[in-house]
Amino acid sequence: MIDFEPTPEQKKAIKVAREFAEEQLRPVGRYYDEQEHENPQELIEKMWEKRQEDTLALGLDVTAALRIEELCWGDAGLFLCIPGPGLGGAAIFASGTKEQLTRFLGHFNEGGPKWGAMAMTEPACGSDTSAIATTAVRDGDEWVLNGEKIFVTWGKRAAENDESLVVVWATVDKSAGRAGMKSFVVPAGTPGMRVEKLEKKLGIRASDTATVIFDNCRIPFDNILGNPEVKKLDKSQTKGFKGAMATFDATRPIVAAMAIGVGRAALDFVEEALKNEGIKIRYGTPRQKLTALERDVMEMEAHYKAAKLLTLRALWMMSQFQPNNLESSMAKAKAGLAVTKITQKAVEIMGPLGYSRKHLLEKWMRDGKINDIFEGTGQINMLVTARRVLNYSRDQLK
Ligand SMILES: Cc1cc2nc3c(=O)[nH]c(=O)nc-3n(C[C@H](O)[C@H](O)[C@H](O)COP(=O)(O)OP(=O)(O)OC[C@H]3O[C@@H](n4cnc5c(N)ncnc54)[C@H](O)[C@@H]3O)c2cc1C
Repeated sequence: MIDFEPTPEQKKAIKVAREFAEEQLRPVGRYYDEQEHENPQELIEKMWEKRQEDTLALGLDVTAALRIEELCWGDAGLFLCIPGPGLGGAAIFASGTKEQLTRFLGHFNEGGPKWGAMAMTEPACGSDTSAIATTAVRDGDEWVLNGEKIFVTWGKRAAENDESLVVVWATVDKSAGRAGMKSFVVPAGTPGMRVEKLEKKLGIRASDTATVIFDNCRIPFDNILGNPEVKKLDKSQTKGFKGAMATFDATRPIVAAMAIGVGRAALDFVEEALKNEGIKIRYGTPRQKLTALERDVMEMEAHYKAAKLLTLRALWMMSQFQPNNLESSMAKAKAGLAVTKITQKAVEIMGPLGYSRKHLLEKWMRDGKINDIFEGTGQINMLVTARRVLNYSRDQLK
């Protein structure tokens, strides 16, 4: 039987992350939300120190998800400033060789703060990731990248900070379709890679979201992740594309964990406010005897718990080397929906207090929504789930 009761080590990890969230993130969350694009340098240094001590290590496992829930309970935007290999690292893990893992990530924890971004989305390519137009052309011992990537989380930090990196998805052969899709590691500061603009956003405003341009950007040949060969594949063999999908299987539950943290922040706030008003939730009372408010709170709790269990299961499966494509998409679809519903309901229940900027409820409603958009929208994750459950191929169910 799977038991998700935290182990003593996990309880310790939760406690440390919670303290950091309470002391370092919550108090300044509103400030950085209002000063969009201001760099929280001092906080970044502290976060980096903690990461290096291993107390804020954020891998792709159950313990990381438990930490992330606490940190995003503190502030989701600032959580996204924590330096580390991030999505770029996940892509390297999913598609890179052993030598590449060592070369690109072996020293990631040393020296100053660094970031690993992943650039997939383009102006004409989002949910349908196989439609990428960015090209990678081989020229001797180098690849030459050309294209525009938008909405790159950590785009600026990863492109401009020493020893950071951006993993870019590009096609080496458009005619090969998905098989021609490959990922490439572009070290920060590589000539030809430049940050065009920073996005102004609804939520997670402390997080840097950039447009990154690749203009005849040259990188060494062996910076291509995985096999450089484009085999003439049939429709079912889409290796490069599978690398992208494997990345999502690893990162979707992590985004789900972020959603859970924001959702719980709103839930905790409402429950505390009701307690202060002397309102008790009568658990165990027959449904027809409950007040509308009690039903609302129970529904919020059910969303939170269901999303959390799905998320932990998806990550647990990954740690057991079990395929988790279905579970990871289910977790992400549920958690994105859960945080949207919980935070909206929290604003509704608290009325003007929920809408006011005096409290953080309105911010959580804005911050939470991104979890239903990036790393595959809610609709796309429902689609993946439906395909898996019904055993339909990508072409049969679009
Ligand atoms: C703050 C932020 C950070 C981001 N960070 C990154 C990042 O680090 N790296 C990166 O590569 N990208 C990143 N993205 C991009 C994000 O992953 C995409 O925005 C997302 O995948 C949706 O793609 P799109 O914007 O092209 O929307 P579209 O694909 O155009 O979707 C628009 C709407 O149509 C729906 N839709 C599309 N296709 C279908 C379908 N087949 N069936 C049903 N509904 C469908 C979608 O669900 C959505 O509601 C980020 C985006 C944001 C906002």
